[in-house]
Amino acid sequence: MDEIVTANALSKQYGSFRALKDLSMHVPRGSIYGIVGKNGAGKTTLIRLLCGLQNPTSGEYTLYGVLNTSREIKKARRRMGAVVESPSAYLEMTAEDNVKEQYRILGLPSFEGVPELLQLVGLSDTGKKKVKNFSLGMRQRLGIALALAGDPDLLVLDEPANGLDPQGIVEMRELILRLNREREITVILSSHILDELSRLATHYGFLDKGHMVKEISAKELEAACRRCVRVEVTDIKVLSRVLETLGMEYEIRSDQEADIFAKVNITRLVLALHEEGCELLSIREREESLENYYINLVGGGKR
Ligand code: ATP
Repeated sequence: MDEIVTANALSKQYGSFRALKDLSMHVPRGSIYGIVGKNGAGKTTLIRLLCGLQNPTSGEYTLYGVLNTSREIKKARRRMGAVVESPSAYLEMTAEDNVKEQYRILGLPSFEGVPELLQLVGLSDTGKKKVKNFSLGMRQRLGIALALAGDPDLLVLDEPANGLDPQGIVEMRELILRLNREREITVILSSHILDELSRLATHYGFLDKGHMVKEISAKELEAACRRCVRVEVTDIKVLSRVLETLGMEYEIRSDQEADIFAKVNITRLVLALHEEGCELLSIREREESLENYYINLVGGGKR
């Protein structure tokens, strides 16, 4: 899978404050890449840089392989749609007129695609209703429609679930998944709500105090957070042999500890170990939550 966005040693300084520090990032084509971080971690700053709304203090990034300092970057950025902070729509206009206005701004030759776009974001039946009377969820979805007007294949969304009610959150999630799966749009989105992000993201970038602490795929994260049984024994070699014989998947953690990723029949395990002179010292179920994983990664701090 090739990478649509990469960043290398990216830094952003506001006066003496470094909001982003030597950040690296790799967004695979076709992914839903979740930037996770506490308030103030630098998510919006990173998104603003990628969208060209601000310039990095040092370091570089690429969009579709085009370096941010290259002349070609403007062209590359046309393949990108974004909703950063609150969506900018004309409040006195309808959804349809807003999208048409966006088409005009982009110099698109006809309004042919407008009904389909409104349908896509679930706003086709809003008729004469002005945007000022829209719910926050409707406004967010209109923001996405405006970002999609230029038919981008990369969509960047800053905290798209922010302030939405549960219904709005579900609709937003379904829309993002549809855009990703049906239209093959790569999505970069930021959030501090890990649980919500975990229903969407195929890849994560964990940001803390301006650093990219870790990039990990959802699959890798799932494996890291997998439910298992941790056992402590007197002889790890015997345990390993017994687990092999029982055909159980496991991972040795130390001279005495291993994680077993299967349902464990404790009596059978104890008897098998006992036969080879090994004792079971302790056994406990564990499952690392996404939240715990993140907190371990960034070294504490509540969210
Ligand atoms: P939140 O979830 O609260 O939106 P965030 O992760 O998006 O947070 P940023 O908005 O990128 O964080 O801010 C990162 C840090 O940079 C914060 O400490 C913020 O106060 C600071 N910052 C952002 N913009 C500016 C600015 N224009 N001038 C000075 N400091 C800024």
